[in-house]
Amino acid sequence: MIQTEHQRRAYLKALEIDVWVPSDQPELSKAAVVEHESVDAMGWPELRTCVSECTRCPLHSSRTQTVFGVGSENADWLIVGEAPGAEEDRRGEPFVGRAGQLLTEMLRAAGQDREQVFIANILKCRPPNNRDPEVEESAACRRYLERQIALLQPKIILAVGRVAAQQLLATDTPVGQLRGQLHHLDKIPVVVTYHPAYLLRSPTQKRKAWQDICLAMDVAAGRTA
Ligand code: URA
Repeated sequence: MIQTEHQRRAYLKALEIDVWVPSDQPELSKAAVVEHESVDAMGWPELRTCVSECTRCPLHSSRTQTVFGVGSENADWLIVGEAPGAEEDRRGEPFVGRAGQLLTEMLRAAGQDREQVFIANILKCRPPNNRDPEVEESAACRRYLERQIALLQPKIILAVGRVAAQQLLATDTPVGQLRGQLHHLDKIPVVVTYHPAYLLRSPTQKRKAWQDICLAMDVAAGRTA
């Protein structure tokens, strides 16, 4: 997975693994490595429980509950958003507010029912006042999304919005430049599109979002390399 040096260091810090320094190679924290490896070996039930009990970042103290993700564990499509909002934190399900309704409609237009896809977020806990995720929070949570991706092996990942796209693809490139083309995350195709909350504010961009959905449909159906 491509990472910027800044992200790599933040991930390692969140994992409590000292950053590699050529002149002085510190030992890795065994506990951190074992913990990460154990997440890598989890099936769906264990992963759900692990996420629901997570205290790896400060967001655990302000959440009502974790928002693991919803949908089919055999989904071809994985939708990745940013983080739970107030309604999602209350209900324990991603994308249930107005933006979620629009996302559901967009998926339905692509022939995908909400129950048929899997919907998750970069963060499993709500950041206070819906602020952007901190680097350390994303780093602490990333293993869970990585395990979800590994278990699902989706045919397409649809990253909705700036935070999801930039964090998944480890880039600072704006969404407007990331959308409209195919990316890959460990060989899994990734299509980037606008966040439905943005589309509610800027409905003229819906046409471009539909083009992105069409690209995702083509990829999922094997019509694009
Ligand atoms: N916005 C997101 O990115 N994710 C949600 O779950 C809800 C709103």
